[in-house]
Amino acid sequence: MNFASGINRPPYESADGYLQTTIGCSHNHCLFCTYFKDQKFQTSPLGEIEADIKEIPSVFGAPKRIFLQGADGFAASYDTLMRVAELLHKYVPSMESIGGYARIDNFYDKSAEQIRNLAAAGFADPYKGKFASLH
Ligand code: SF4
Repeated sequence: MNFASGINRPPYESADGYLQTTIGCSHNHCLFCTYFKDQKFQTSPLGEIEADIKEIPSVFGAPKRIFLQGADGFAASYDTLMRVAELLHKYVPSMESIGGYARIDNFYDKSAEQIRNLAAAGFADPYKGKFASLH
């Protein structure tokens, strides 16, 4: 599987499967943070994401939750996130929800209807500064 940096997640997400949909941080200007200073932000190619999703059962078993890696996987476009959800439901049938770190501006390019669609597709409880829900 493709991971540009080490697995970074809250301790209570330790049983998750992990998936990289973005690399680096879409903001990358916080003065106190050096996590992603050496990485240029980019969305992973869909072909790479799909190949990684197919590998999840052999690497992580049958996870109930997938945690998006990178600083803010929700920075990916609506279409990319919906395709990710579709592929996860197809290849990781145990998956019930998809989480990850997020910045509030990750949602500025998504309409209220699109956010409802993301929640219906399984995206839930992104970590955006404080514990929050898409529902
Ligand atoms: S948004 Fe988060 S990951 Fe990005 S620079 Fe700031 S603290 Fe670091």
